[in-house]
Amino acid sequence: MINDNIIDIKKRVSEAARRSGRNPEEVTIVAVTKTVPVERIEEALMSGVAILGENRVQEARSKVDKLAKPIIWHLVGHLQSNKARDAVKIFSLIHSVDSLHLAEAIDKEAARINKVQDVLIQVNVSGERSKFGIEPKDAEALLKDCEGLKNIKVTGFMTIPPDVDNPEDVRMDFRRLRELRDSLNERRTTNDELRILSMGMSHDFEVAIEEGATMVRIGRGIFGERNN
Ligand SMILES: *Cc1c(COP(=O)(O)O)cnc(C)c1O
Repeated sequence: MINDNIIDIKKRVSEAARRSGRNPEEVTIVAVTKTVPVERIEEALMSGVAILGENRVQEARSKVDKLAKPIIWHLVGHLQSNKARDAVKIFSLIHSVDSLHLAEAIDKEAARINKVQDVLIQVNVSGERSKFGIEPKDAEALLKDCEGLKNIKVTGFMTIPPDVDNPEDVRMDFRRLRELRDSLNERRTTNDELRILSMGMSHDFEVAIEEGATMVRIGRGIFGERNN
């Protein structure tokens, strides 16, 4: 079943990309494994999933020990500064940096292990409808502050729009994140482009891809409904 789901998701990713004139290979699938037991994660790995996303550091840590294979882990959920030490050891990409305080904590812990930690800035493009992420107007300042930190590298942006029944209702949120990325890229003085747009989950990833997502975070669409 997991294998069938993955085939189906990949097909829908490709179709959404082609519909909007994009190359399907521009879109990376992150399989979100929160609450999913390791046996089922192993099934997904055998079906060709390469990147796993968790939203809690502790849960990821226990799975890292149980899954012996080389796996790329992403943190997609909120991170508390006091968990930064474990987070930099586990995750290739942290999607959820939304304050300078957190960025500094990650930078400090990454420096201890001689790592440059890739991160995304999480932006709240939905206004009061969403409670996570930095305000769009503050994104540029946070980006500049992060450039002053040696052990952190911002590679793009992430957003979590409100959970709506009709994904068309959040299309504008996705578009706003893309426009924000593009305008920040235009104003950038360094020449490394910010490419990643992490947006879209099981119920809205096709709309997100049509609006430019380069990374979609899929949980239920791969593993089925979570029962806790
Ligand atoms: C759980 C979660 C997802 C996946 O959600 P699904 O609806 O299961 O696809 C994606 N991103 C974040 C931040 C999550 O917490």
